Amino acid sequence: MASTRRSVLAALIASPVLAMADNDLSAAAPTFGLDLTPDCRDGDEHTVAQTEGPYFKPNAPLKRDLAVDAPGGERMTIGGLVLDTACRPLPRALVQIWHADESGAYDTKGYKLRGYQYADDDGRWWFSTIVPAAYAGRTRHYHVKVQKPHGRILTSQLYFPNERLNKQDSLFDRRLVMRVSSSDEGRFGRFDFVV
Ligand code: FE
Repeated sequence: MASTRRSVLAALIASPVLAMADNDLSAAAPTFGLDLTPDCRDGDEHTVAQTEGPYFKPNAPLKRDLAVDAPGGERMTIGGLVLDTACRPLPRALVQIWHADESGAYDTKGYKLRGYQYADDDGRWWFSTIVPAAYAGRTRHYHVKVQKPHGRILTSQLYFPNERLNKQDSLFDRRLVMRVSSSDEGRFGRFDFVV
């Protein structure tokens, strides 16, 4: 199991990071879909904000591997860049996520499937987690907060493409849809924040 995970992760990893952190695969950036070409081309357009909803909890841990919290879930890595409105990467930007588990439930007692990270020197953020299930009234989504160093906090949500329930969810916004691809290791969702 560990060796399978290691080999699959190795295939996802940017080699400069691997060279630095060979013994800490959780710290290594997945490469596919995480090249450094930013999605922001128009400029001046901040990522749209959305409600944090009822399940946000302060004081979530510094944590990148959330998949350990839901071993029965379908693996998914989400990541991308944090950029300013001039499309420049923002190293050390804080990215926090929280989301439902594979049955659509939030952990409201503890901090499962909740965590934050800082973007790396290239402005990249990523989490290893699972695919959340839809729940009453909501299509599949991740909740996010993104804060550029010493800046304001963007609260928003990320969505999946081609979900049947997207049309029925009044909060759904196509500007917040991730680019999703698949691999042996599960799905990968790319989204670049502009803050
Ligand atoms: Fe939610």
